[in-house]
Amino acid sequence: MANPRLTESERMKADSLVREIEKRIHLLSKGVQRRKFAYRRRVTRLLIQIEKGTPAQRGKLRAKLREKQHDLCAVTPTHRLKSEVELHRLDAIRGYTIKNTRLVCRACHRKFHASHKFSL
Ligand SMILES: [Zn+2]
Ligand SMILES: [Zn+2]
Repeated sequence: MANPRLTESERMKADSLVREIEKRIHLLSKGVQRRKFAYRRRVTRLLIQIEKGTPAQRGKLRAKLREKQHDLCAVTPTHRLKSEVELHRLDAIRGYTIKNTRLVCRACHRKFHASHKFSL
């Protein structure tokens, strides 16, 4: 399923929000470059975790999916999953849940997103 996109006016609001955050970071860091870097990293990490969950939560999900898929790739079921696996969301906005996610080989995942020609 295609990811939702913002309208032009929504994009402008998002850009404005980033400018506000950047101003707050500037104030909090008192203009110290090293601290600005650390604040940006922290804010970025937390926003990503809101969308994707923590690394530990994704680790647990990978383990559950390995069991559910009998350690086989969801794109090419003849592939036994190795250590380089990726979580693929069937519908990105529904997040990283057991129902909405499949475990695939990194190479298969890359091919899938390059082609979009087959579904899981
Ligand atoms: Zn994917
Ligand atoms: Zn595969």
